[in-house]
Amino acid sequence: MTVAGLRTHDDLIQPFQIDASKLRGRLVRLGPAVDAILGRHDYPEPVARLLGEALALAAALAGGLKFDGIFTLQTKGDGAIAMMVADVTSAGELRGYAQFDRDKLAQAAPRGEAVAVLSVPRLIGAGYLAFTVDQGVHTERYQGIVELTGASLADCVHHYFQQSEQIGTAAKLACGRTARGWRTAALVLQQMPLDGGILIEAPGATERDEYWRRAVALMGSSTSAELLDADLDPNRLLYRLFHEDGVRVWPAQPLQDRCRCTAGRVESVLRALSPDELAEMKVDDGAVVVTCQFCSTVRRYDAAALDALGLS
Ligand SMILES: [Zn+2]
Repeated sequence: MTVAGLRTHDDLIQPFQIDASKLRGRLVRLGPAVDAILGRHDYPEPVARLLGEALALAAALAGGLKFDGIFTLQTKGDGAIAMMVADVTSAGELRGYAQFDRDKLAQAAPRGEAVAVLSVPRLIGAGYLAFTVDQGVHTERYQGIVELTGASLADCVHHYFQQSEQIGTAAKLACGRTARGWRTAALVLQQMPLDGGILIEAPGATERDEYWRRAVALMGSSTSAELLDADLDPNRLLYRLFHEDGVRVWPAQPLQDRCRCTAGRVESVLRALSPDELAEMKVDDGAVVVTCQFCSTVRRYDAAALDALGLS
C-alpha cells in the first residue's frame, strides 16, 4: 500500500503462506484506524486493550474467508466486560464497541495491575464467543458460538476452531498505547482443510503435525513490541519469523475506521418503535437523542424533526 510515495505499515491485513508446511495466515496491523476507534470511547485501559485485540482478531479471521458482507466477532460474559463487538466488512471497514461495568472492572483489574493482565476469565467472566458472517438479506447467516474457554482471547479462538471447524488455528494478539497512539496487531496461523483436493502436495499427517508445532512455536516467539512496532514492516516481521520454511505474501488488504450507521437507519429504527417506547426515549424537552454505540455519533431529533418523520 503506497500513500504519497511512502510505504505504510498500518491498517492492513497481510495474508501469507508458509511454503514448506502449506500453512496459511494473516498478519493484521492497526494504527490510525484503531487509535480513532478506541480514542472515540475513552474506555478504561483493560477494556480498550481487549477491544483492540478483538478488532485485530476480527480482521485477521475475516481475511481468511471468502465473503461479501459483514464479519462480526462478539463476546458476552458475566464479568466486568459484559459485551464486546468488533466487525469488519469485506471492503475493510472496521468498527467496534464494548459494554462494561465500572464497579466490576475496579474489582477485576485494580489500578496499576491491569496493564499486565488481559485475562478473559477475569475481565469477561463466563460466557461465549460468537462469529457471524452476514452476506445480506437474501443469504443464510452463518453463526458459530462456543463457550469462552481459555485465559486469553487468543486461547478462546484456538478452542473455537478446535470445537466448531476442526481447523488448527493459532493466534497471537497485542494491543497497547504507544507514543503514536493506540496500536494493535493479530497474527493468525491456520491449517488448510484437507478435503476438496486443495492440498495436492500436502505433507503427511506426522509431518503436518511437526510443521504445525514448529510454526506455532515460531509465531509464539514474536514479541508484543515487534507486533506493535510501527517502524517494522509487516513483511519483514513475517520473514524474520518464518523465513527458514519459506514465507510468501499475497497483496495486502487495507482496513479503515468506518461505521455503517446512517441517519436513515436510525430513523427507520425510530419508526419501528411503539408510541410508548418512543415516549420513553424522550428527554426533558421532548427530543429523542440517539447515540451510535460504535462511533459515538449523536443524532438529536427535536419535536419538529420528529414531526417531520411523522413521529410526533
Ligand atoms: Zn456509528
